[in-house]
Amino acid sequence: MANDTNKFQAIISHCKEYGFIFPSSEIYDGLSAVYDYGQNGSELKKNIRDYWWKWMTQLQEENIVGIDAAIFMHPTTWKASGHVDNFSDPMIDNKDSKKRYRVDHLIEAFADTLPEAEKEALLAEMEALLKTEDFAGLKSLIEARKMKCSVSGTANWTDVRQFNLMFKTEFGAVSGEADDNMVYLRPETAQGIFVNFLNVQKSGRMKIPFGIAQIGKAFRNEIVARQFIFRMREFEQMEMQFFIRPGTQKEWYEYWKNARMQWHLSLGIPAEKYKFHDHAKLAHYADAACDIEYNFPIGFKEVEGIHSRTDFDLRNHQEYSKKKMQYFDAELGPDGKPYGNYIPYVIETSIGLDRTVMMVLSEAYEEQDLGTPEKPDSRVVLRFPPKLAPVKLGILPLMKKDGLPEIARELLAECRASFRCFYEEKDAIGKRYRRQDAIGTPFCVTIDHQTKEDRTVTIRYRDSMEQERIPLDQVKNLIAKAID
Ligand code: ATP
Repeated sequence: MANDTNKFQAIISHCKEYGFIFPSSEIYDGLSAVYDYGQNGSELKKNIRDYWWKWMTQLQEENIVGIDAAIFMHPTTWKASGHVDNFSDPMIDNKDSKKRYRVDHLIEAFADTLPEAEKEALLAEMEALLKTEDFAGLKSLIEARKMKCSVSGTANWTDVRQFNLMFKTEFGAVSGEADDNMVYLRPETAQGIFVNFLNVQKSGRMKIPFGIAQIGKAFRNEIVARQFIFRMREFEQMEMQFFIRPGTQKEWYEYWKNARMQWHLSLGIPAEKYKFHDHAKLAHYADAACDIEYNFPIGFKEVEGIHSRTDFDLRNHQEYSKKKMQYFDAELGPDGKPYGNYIPYVIETSIGLDRTVMMVLSEAYEEQDLGTPEKPDSRVVLRFPPKLAPVKLGILPLMKKDGLPEIARELLAECRASFRCFYEEKDAIGKRYRRQDAIGTPFCVTIDHQTKEDRTVTIRYRDSMEQERIPLDQVKNLIAKAID
């Protein structure tokens, strides 16, 4: 493999060839930054989603419950959350090519071409201008450094403008009329949690601290939408809002930073592939924020955000809805009196499901040279952790006759209620193994003539390619244990 850009391209091709991810509506040449998950990709994604959900709502010592809120929400939600006014990125257009750039991306790409010290200085200057929303200053910076458009090659730029990332659509029977009918596709799942805070707290008799988790689609009209499923216009988020007593946010922020990193490590990904990135420019709602970044083939990039959101969201919903978003804390404080009524503070953990799929794929993908000078040979293997693999067991009768398929189908009937199996009787066994390697199946079992005599089978391990003989009646247990 020459370099990591090649690896990234190879993963994209592999995903298409083996039924993981297709461009959306591909027969019409696709839709930019929208993707469909195929037969293997949807299983992989579901396994990751289920693992996150179980970890959050079942395995925590802390009290966390899940909800499933609608994508459409009352439009005032997005006034209160700040998204109508603030959820925008500064953009600049090249007048010659008409290509639009996110200002930070344009400057960062330019900075990458500079020596390290100069690069740091430029990025610091950019951060400062972004922080004060000094758009004229950003434009001057771009012009002064003669940054050019990659398409036209010119430095003929428009002014810097804000561009809101929310998709709008019309609600109800009458279209094209007053703004009353306008709704947004949610740009994050978090607000569905905030507007249900009291519903869940009261109906579940929840005591602070507690969390509410949600998984669902979110939509952003991303301007620079490339890099495969890293930046999509329709994507899925897995978010958890943890409601706490004001003043305890620092310790809970640290707690969730650490807990979430443990989750990442539990995917079998080594620690050196991750790093924390603390935000210099805080979002409008945050008093502390960091990203967990993973070293993708395209470099270290954000997979998850952890944000200390203060009481920003609940307080604003209280103001806009005129409904009290308070919690009565009966526990006694240091002064011997109950903490009483307050609007809870919130720590948020927010991870993109699609980016996690891309992370797991990047980590699993390996091209291996297995050949000798006399006999060239290679394979592509996806080394997924067994619990995430789309198919757990390949069941392969050596031949299509002599009663072998019958035994194989008995095994299939025994196993398929517990985990996903793939049955195949066509082609040479070596070819069948390679196809299972390419979709990341951790175990294959071959049924041959000896099976008829002594009820043993050959089990073949994906990563080591080792094979051993085991009793047929142990297969199910062995795999069930490996995926537990
Ligand atoms: P970025 O800086 O990459 O645009 P963000 O900081 O805006 O991301 P958040 O609003 O914190 O992202 O969203 C939480 C998570 O949702 C991100 O860590 C990411 O995994 C995921 N996410 C956000 N935008 C997209 C997108 N356009 N496509 C896929 N996943 C996304």
